[in-house]
Amino acid sequence: MKKFALAGNPNAGKTTLFNTLTGATAHVGNWPGVTVDKREGVYKKFGDPISILDLPGIYSLSPYTPEEVISRNYILNENPDCIINIVDATNIERNLYLTTQLLEIDVPVVVALNMMDEVKKSGVEIDVKLLEEKIGLPVVSISALHGEGVDELMKKAYEASKTKRQGKTVLENSELVHLIGDCKIALDGLGVKDSLFHAVKLVEMDELEVAAHPQPTKVVEEFKKTFKDDTFGTDFDAIVADARYKYITKHYTKAVKKSVTKGKDKNTKSDKADKIITHKIWGIPIFLAILFVVFHVTFSENFLFLGWLLGDWTSLSGTAFEGLFGDGALASPGVVLFNLMDIVTATVIEWVNAGLETLGASEWAIGLLCDGVLGGLAGVLSFLPQILVLFLLFSILEDTGYMARVAFILDRLFRKFGLSGRAVMPMIMGFGCSVPAMVNTRTLLDQKERTTTIRVIPFFSCGAKLPILTAVSGAIVMKFGVGNADVITYGMYVIGIICAIVSVILMRATTQKGDVTPFIMELPTYRKPQTTSLLLHVWDKLKHFLEKAFTIILASTVIIWIVSHFDWNWHFLPDEDIDKSILAGVGSLIVPLFTPLGFGSQLSNWAWVFGVAAITGLIAKENVVATFSALAACIVSGFVDSQEGVSSVVQMIETTGATIPALLAFITFNMTTIPCFAAVATAKLESPDKKTFTNTLVFWLATSYVVSMMVYVIGTWLWTAFIFAGIWAVVFVLIRLHSKGKLFNRKVKK
Ligand code: GDP
Ligand code: MG
Repeated sequence: MKKFALAGNPNAGKTTLFNTLTGATAHVGNWPGVTVDKREGVYKKFGDPISILDLPGIYSLSPYTPEEVISRNYILNENPDCIINIVDATNIERNLYLTTQLLEIDVPVVVALNMMDEVKKSGVEIDVKLLEEKIGLPVVSISALHGEGVDELMKKAYEASKTKRQGKTVLENSELVHLIGDCKIALDGLGVKDSLFHAVKLVEMDELEVAAHPQPTKVVEEFKKTFKDDTFGTDFDAIVADARYKYITKHYTKAVKKSVTKGKDKNTKSDKADKIITHKIWGIPIFLAILFVVFHVTFSENFLFLGWLLGDWTSLSGTAFEGLFGDGALASPGVVLFNLMDIVTATVIEWVNAGLETLGASEWAIGLLCDGVLGGLAGVLSFLPQILVLFLLFSILEDTGYMARVAFILDRLFRKFGLSGRAVMPMIMGFGCSVPAMVNTRTLLDQKERTTTIRVIPFFSCGAKLPILTAVSGAIVMKFGVGNADVITYGMYVIGIICAIVSVILMRATTQKGDVTPFIMELPTYRKPQTTSLLLHVWDKLKHFLEKAFTIILASTVIIWIVSHFDWNWHFLPDEDIDKSILAGVGSLIVPLFTPLGFGSQLSNWAWVFGVAAITGLIAKENVVATFSALAACIVSGFVDSQEGVSSVVQMIETTGATIPALLAFITFNMTTIPCFAAVATAKLESPDKKTFTNTLVFWLATSYVVSMMVYVIGTWLWTAFIFAGIWAVVFVLIRLHSKGKLFNRKVKK
């Protein structure tokens, strides 16, 4: 069976085309060793069935991301009969960058110009014949979404797959062309196939290539000593990239013609919107406002601020659904779902409890199952709806093309502090999960820039930290009756971002000085998000969350319950005696550490619960709330005259006597301290050496300690803000003096 592979930039429409081609034959697996989807299927319209593979989306064939490595290795080693290179024709210049690299491999390639429906709507015309001539590959215009041109594409691909193709390069005018030629000859001598491709990569000093061919590498290194480009010095990687872009602009874009008459309205609509949305000054407030709307929809107990108008018409008092739509105000969609989940989990736990009692189960068994296992799980699961709502909203922002604008807006800001716009995407990904975000920093070329970015990624609070924010800010609202949960949550996210910015400034001015990676980006036109793609994003998150909940988090809560219900002689302790448990004993030892942060020795009771919760969070951040819930259930049932309708976490916090600043400091601490185990392992893997990694851990600990102390101290004694402002001013002046007025190394590496 012939094998065709689909290759192209992310969002070029590969999966859409793949689905059109393969229909029901498709199946999804994983690439070995990584969590990147592998889609395979069969195309049956010809007599001869053809296997189709959807390669991961890539911008180049460099070894920076797992996707790039997978796609590159597949194309080079698995001998596909034809590569269908999908090009987003609305963004043709950037997409053809990959094409210039595929061109160098000795494999048949057909270019599919996708999204032609949109191109036509915008009044742009692409001269396919001319483009075909210039690139020297068959080009077919298609619309994967509407199935247009797909049959012709497959015919051409089938045709192309019958003959071998010799790789060729667009780097004809580069000064490196002789060197490439020499390397190719050397590689041919070694019997390497696709020698042209490997020769170019070798000249780029691509790390995979250098490791594979040490002998010819020496030739490149010799040449380097005698060569220097005016703009790029001896950065051959940059020289080659620049030559590719220049070639594309000079030859390929001739085929793209904007018609003056028709093109105007559609194109300028997007442009007009961008005039405001990416405005130099307004861009950032608009971003913050959009972010606020997102949090309002997810967390507000007073949706659209209608509380004063509605009174408590929605309270449903007396029914099982009391408070579902809010209490004295309208709840936001996120909160309604949260309440619903809460009602469901509470009911299930009650049933199990009653069932076990009638069966005559022993006290410890009921406790372990209802408080330890179910209580801990419910504590985490009840936040699932809000996590999903937040994710859905983030996915909408991403699919419409707004997130690309955010990277663009923040690039201007971050560049001032010595960080490229390329660092922004990983940071935004950090709102989802730090692990892929840290891996994504591989697109940063400068090691110090990468290290800086990896260190601040956890400050962009991830989905797993959300329950901490929601539970604790919920408790603040419930107990003190101040503020709205959405305002508090939003504020905490903003503190995280500020923390990241200040850390970047400090690091880039001191220990992590380095070059700034160039950031060239074309803004995609705004698109209406597709329901299926949104649902897929949300489903991925749900799957991941459930997997974690029923493994790590479940195991952790069981262990926490056991060590909180046995003493050192392994005697079972009922809830009333949990203060004599192993956990209470060990926990009490660390309590003084947290005194400066407000949740240490000054608390009357149960201070150790905070410390223990923070430490279990090092395994997975969901554990913080799971531990809280499991322990709170015992503490409240054992020690407090429990109040109807008030969650046990809130009641427990009440008995500890923690103040608002202390609770905020607790959130801050968990948000900025050492992240979960998986993120730490990733940070280690992505660090250049052991020392950098150790410093990263120290940095996280120190930052979280200092920042949460500031939150607590300033929150309690407002006037101390002046003292802290003074200290920070001195720090900045000292750094400035130390670096002799040059705060940042702003040399841009192109
Ligand atoms: P992939 O990342 O390359 O797999 O891209 P997808 O197949 O997920 O497509 C990205 C987005 O582009 C989706 O929202 C698709 O619906 C949309 N899309 C794909 N092909 C076309 C097309 O021909 N026309 C239009 N207008 N949209 C398309
Ligand atoms: Mg895809």
